[in-house]
Amino acid sequence: MKTVTKHYIDGEFVGSHGREVIDIVNPSNGKVIARVTLADEEDARRAIAAAKRAFVSFRQTTKEERANALRRLHEVVAARVDDLTAAMVEEYGGVVRFAEPIIQAGANAFLATEKALQGLPLTRSWNKTTVTYEPVGVAALITPWNANALFLCAKLASAVAAGCTVVIKPSELSSLQTQVWLDCLHEARLPHGLYNVVTGRGDVVGAELVRNPDVAKISFTGSVGVGKTIMRDGAATMKRVTLELGGKSPNILLDDVVLEKAIPTALGIAFLNSGQACAAGTRLLVPKSRLDAVKRAIVDAMPAFPVGDPADRRTAVGPMVTEKQYERVQSYIRKGIAEGAEVLVGGEGHPPGLEAGYFVKPTVFVNVTNNMTIAQEEIFGPVLCVITYETEEDAIRIANDTSFGLHAFVSGTDVQRARRVASQILAGRVAINGMLDDQQAPFGGFKHSGVGREFGTFGIEAFLEPRAILE
Ligand code: NAD
Repeated sequence: MKTVTKHYIDGEFVGSHGREVIDIVNPSNGKVIARVTLADEEDARRAIAAAKRAFVSFRQTTKEERANALRRLHEVVAARVDDLTAAMVEEYGGVVRFAEPIIQAGANAFLATEKALQGLPLTRSWNKTTVTYEPVGVAALITPWNANALFLCAKLASAVAAGCTVVIKPSELSSLQTQVWLDCLHEARLPHGLYNVVTGRGDVVGAELVRNPDVAKISFTGSVGVGKTIMRDGAATMKRVTLELGGKSPNILLDDVVLEKAIPTALGIAFLNSGQACAAGTRLLVPKSRLDAVKRAIVDAMPAFPVGDPADRRTAVGPMVTEKQYERVQSYIRKGIAEGAEVLVGGEGHPPGLEAGYFVKPTVFVNVTNNMTIAQEEIFGPVLCVITYETEEDAIRIANDTSFGLHAFVSGTDVQRARRVASQILAGRVAINGMLDDQQAPFGGFKHSGVGREFGTFGIEAFLEPRAILE
């Protein structure tokens, strides 16, 4: 049994003022694997005070000094990818074949951000006017449980590049991963108070960060509901906010698509991170004329997506993070059936032999209409809705008929046409022919999927304020 009792404040591991202790459960078998002492408001205030002190000098660092810090952070996190992966598998049930590249992507985010920083002018001038881009102040970084290390790295990288000091509140469900990550940060030996980490409840530590006048900026990744609370409560102290929220991403298969390739890709996109991914393509829009062929291709491709032990490299879908999340996915599957959708594969309950953990059956619904609850709400589990369309315009209309706008996918043989369709989708990212990533490209959402963007120069700019000096 592991125990976590300390937070990281002002360059040191310090005992918790908070007294609440929670269990961390391995979602693959329901066993308690760790006890974690949570931070309280006082711990949060100490962390904010440390970040505020450190900001006085860190705000004055040069681009080169910040670039050096980013390279150092990359070095220390890259050295522990294996340990971070093991923690993500054990604590969260992340399948190793997803967890490893996602943590590697977290480490790489420091280098990608350093590259972005080098190309970002922090001063602009014309006539007798000079504009400098100043770090916004102490920033609070709040993350969810589904890809803890990636979000922590990406947010920290942008903040450091901008010259901000930070207080980080990771999800309390990611405590073991956070501990490994903290060892990396300590190892980096960067200025005390530059980063401070307090793991605690959202309505306790998170709320203090949102309320505290010494925090200038909140960079949040999580649910739409909490995002709205942060925006509303942060208004009292005029917080700058970046909100990365949920999604219900459409994946449009154009009628010239090669199904043998596009369907396995579509399932991979839908079941990404066991379906617990904001970017997952959970609405598959297919031409009505090809529905029968699509159904056959899905059934044929399913054996490539085995559910089971997340540590096994063959496994594509692991358990849900908690029993609550398991129940949430089950309730949506029941709702889909009740609303008249047809289960093509999967359905209610545990997969046979996997009753001990929070495993669900990867499920594909057909006969789904876009107004059904399962097509409108984010399920955050391996559940795919197949929706038919008549024409290209119809497909675009259905794709945009959602309150979300985080990500979208378009697949087809005629790339010009795919581009034309992509340009009409209201989403922060649209990937053509596959699940693609570019750490210089902005990530974030239209509509209820959030406010602002992360990654590359876009991510750094979110931590900067322009100041114009006129002579
Ligand atoms: P959540 O919103 O419940 O919690 C996210 C974080 O916010 C946690 O650290 C939590 O403790 C904290 N929090 C909760 N209440 C708070 C409050 N009142 N004030 C401040 N902080 C508070 O989300 P979750 O269940 O941990 O994660 C799943 C959600 O995250 C899904 O909706 C998913 O779509 C979203 N998500 C979005 C992205 C993205 O980049 N757009 C990425 C991953 C996950």
